[in-house]
Amino acid sequence: MQGQMMDYQLTLTPLLERARRLFPKKEIVTKSGPGLERFTYEQMTERVARLANALDKLGVKRGDRVATFAWNNARHLELYFAVPCMGAVLHPLNLRLPADQLTYIIAHANDEILFIDPSLLPVVEKLAPLLKSVRHFVVMGDKVPEATTLSPVHAYEDLLSASSSNYPWPNLNENDAAAMCYTSGTTGNPKGVVYSHRSIYLHSLGLSMTDSFGLSERDVFMPVVPMFHVLAWGTPFATVMLGSKLVFPGPHLQPRDLAELIQAEKVTLTAGVPTLWLGLLSLLDKEYYDLTTLRGMIVGGAAAPQFMIEGFKQKHNVEVIHAWGMTEMSPLGTVSHLKSYQRDLPEAERFAIRAKQGMPVPGVEVRAIDESGKEIPWDGKAFGELQVRGPWIVSSYYNDERSAECFMDGWFRTGDVVTIDTEGFVQIVDRTKDLVKSGGEWISSQDLENAIMGHPKVLEAAVIAIPHPKWQERPLACVVPKPDYKETITKAEIFEHLRERFSKMYLPDDIVFIEAVPKTSVGKFDKKVLRVQYKDYQLPEM
Ligand code: ADP
Repeated sequence: MQGQMMDYQLTLTPLLERARRLFPKKEIVTKSGPGLERFTYEQMTERVARLANALDKLGVKRGDRVATFAWNNARHLELYFAVPCMGAVLHPLNLRLPADQLTYIIAHANDEILFIDPSLLPVVEKLAPLLKSVRHFVVMGDKVPEATTLSPVHAYEDLLSASSSNYPWPNLNENDAAAMCYTSGTTGNPKGVVYSHRSIYLHSLGLSMTDSFGLSERDVFMPVVPMFHVLAWGTPFATVMLGSKLVFPGPHLQPRDLAELIQAEKVTLTAGVPTLWLGLLSLLDKEYYDLTTLRGMIVGGAAAPQFMIEGFKQKHNVEVIHAWGMTEMSPLGTVSHLKSYQRDLPEAERFAIRAKQGMPVPGVEVRAIDESGKEIPWDGKAFGELQVRGPWIVSSYYNDERSAECFMDGWFRTGDVVTIDTEGFVQIVDRTKDLVKSGGEWISSQDLENAIMGHPKVLEAAVIAIPHPKWQERPLACVVPKPDYKETITKAEIFEHLRERFSKMYLPDDIVFIEAVPKTSVGKFDKKVLRVQYKDYQLPEM
């Protein structure tokens, strides 16, 4: 017997229409230079229709790729809806990627129209001669600077004012492509992930569940995670669906900018990678900001160190919501909320649980497979590679023959090595390539880093494997002292701090003090660079 419910297509168009009908007065705020730019949802939805008409005039057809090269701002949000709802495919480009990767990605995706923030024009002007697929450039502002070498080039606001505010949105199939992002592969070129209307729709519901982030109309949400990094973790779609007030920081990502925005716009929820929040935590130690409206700070993309979760809660009463995900997963995978009966545990245990990556959210299934291909027990001890499946998880990469090796019996292989405990909490031990393989044992660089960063004189730490004649590999800790302790910090005190937590074999063989940990294009620690820099490093005899 079949169910007898409507075969209703899960597309983004009714979500946009919902926002237009129900939340015309809600605001979208962008920090632009010293000031703030404000639009209402009423204006935004009208502008989205104009933009779709303008794209029609530029010859954009169903399935064509429209790329963006932009910070988090209101115009970028308009593109997030106009492009997919007219049946085309939104492709936000990571503006921190090197030129060769950008040209590869634009050609591979066959991007035809490129929208560019005015401040980023110089970067695109340099690349333009190599961008054979791009037919039109659009500057996301009032006018095209006279000096630009781009051609043909249009001003965003000119396109909008010359277009009608009525757009006949087409009926789309829920499996049509809506957007795409490229992930930085560990080796070789980046891989493309194509999201469907259906996957984004379901993922938006996923982000709204109380047991994930509980996004709601009542939230004032500030996505700090860039809109080119897994579509700002899918949050723009979910927040417009719900009618939340949105606050975009634009290119202003310094801790002071963020603290001021949270305070002034009464932000309730924000999201970003840990490096950013570590900076905010240090600032809050020195300067006061009223962050009482903030109910949570979603931290993911890299491990949220336990001391950071504790620091925000104990000193500033801000809840860190630790989550794990991937570009291939839209990205929501696991979220670390305590179960109701864990709330009575001693405080230290509660923080240790919240520093794990958490339980899979409804919609995501997890398992971990050991080296012999068997599923590991959920005992919190056995290690394995995490594999996932669900309706918002990639089924293959876009036009990429490397797809096959990333799947196993219908499960996606994440490349993360994990344990899963008896309560079902996943803990990332490391990325496969970051583990230090020492005499048959695996040392988690992530555990060491988190412990070192818990030392009061340390700002950042990255642990890398150094080749070793006897042990195969041994850990080297690269440590950035806080500015006030640059002159006085010693290796001995870091070792002392670690000896309380790790047995001898898990300690780094040496510590070097560095100016800053290199960061990837999305702000995570870039250990590839350190590995190259220290490849010939002589560890002391132990
Ligand atoms: P990139 O490969 O460019 O870093 P992603 O942003 O898709 O692209 O990264 C996904 C990876 O980031 C995961 O496989 C995992 O290794 C890491 N990651 C994400 N969230 C967390 C977290 N909360 N803790 C530890 N690692 C995380």
